[in-house]
Amino acid sequence: MNDFESIEGAILTIDLPALVANYERLRNRVAPADLAAVVKADAYGLGVQVVVPTLVAAGCSHFFVAHLAEALAIRPLIPVGRTIYVLNGLIAGAEAICVDHGIVPVLNSLAQARRWLDLAVQRKCPLHAVLQVDSGMSRLGLSPADAEYLAADAHFRRYVLLRAIMSHLACADKPESAANEQQREQFTRLASLFPDAAQSLANSGGCLLDSAFHGDIARAGIALYGADPADGTDQPFAPVIRLDARVIQLRTVLDGTGVGYGLDWRACGERRLATLSIGYADGWPRSLSRRGAAWFGDVRLPIAGRISMDSMTVDVTGLPLGTLEEGDLVELIGQHQRLEDVARDAGTIPYEILTGLGPRYARRIVPLTCRAPVLEVLA
Ligand SMILES: *Cc1c(COP(=O)(O)O)cnc(C)c1O
Repeated sequence: MNDFESIEGAILTIDLPALVANYERLRNRVAPADLAAVVKADAYGLGVQVVVPTLVAAGCSHFFVAHLAEALAIRPLIPVGRTIYVLNGLIAGAEAICVDHGIVPVLNSLAQARRWLDLAVQRKCPLHAVLQVDSGMSRLGLSPADAEYLAADAHFRRYVLLRAIMSHLACADKPESAANEQQREQFTRLASLFPDAAQSLANSGGCLLDSAFHGDIARAGIALYGADPADGTDQPFAPVIRLDARVIQLRTVLDGTGVGYGLDWRACGERRLATLSIGYADGWPRSLSRRGAAWFGDVRLPIAGRISMDSMTVDVTGLPLGTLEEGDLVELIGQHQRLEDVARDAGTIPYEILTGLGPRYARRIVPLTCRAPVLEVLA
């Protein structure tokens, strides 16, 4: 431990060898299809500055973000010959920025396709794009009728080079859902209208479905970052993050003492409490109030009372007196309490916990060159 790390309130550890292991596992799973990395929302909260170069080094060639601003942010990290795609589509006025930075938009509507085509004609140069079709989720993409209309437009076919035709699965986390096969059939039919384009349908959950779902490019997000994309599939990916918070005060309270805002937790008998340096402003969900826990060694430390903005209190009576001291770190996400456990206790999904990870944490990076935690801290 260096000095910086020993004074931080909470520490987020990011395990790059685990990230690469998950990437390789998914890539092998979908081969011969390509595996694209979805790095929207700052790589699901882990940080594009460390995640993207790691995946570039691992051989990833396709990177999906949600917003143009996210694409521009990672542009310097992506070598020539590899591609950045913007899932949320081509916002009017953004066309020239995409072209000038070599960013490939996902065209989600006829109007977007039209504007991209107009620019290609104006510049007298065909432009690359991905076309998204709605295969049943009713969220983004052209309706089947619009896709058919566009497929019949010779001008569009000549001036817009479709790198891929894509769609998104609504129920990939439920392998048994009939909606998956229905979407796949609809997608396959629409994709056949654009026979030269690669096909892209699967997210992480889709990667775990039958190979018929893998297409030519699968787009994985959550599984890269270590969470199981499907309910109870027993496909544990390597955990990529670990979260620890520091004990900033210890106290003993008497029977009936109220704790935290609203005093809505009351000590039942004499209790020992520890206040931790983490709160909802760090992305630690307030919905864990009175439900979640921290861990010290093998001992569960239940959250006592409401989570504050910058701190929360846990009941440490289960630990032998003197075991825990001010300044010690306790585990919030790790070996004893997985990301999935925290999400369940908070009434949400791992995606929301990850993308909510706050910028206040000290970030400790487990580097690629070694498995043992020889640590480097990012300022
Ligand atoms: C976010 C997203 C993904 C990645 O989904 P995961 O479930 O995290 O693998 C893939 N495709 C689209 C269109 C997305 O919006």
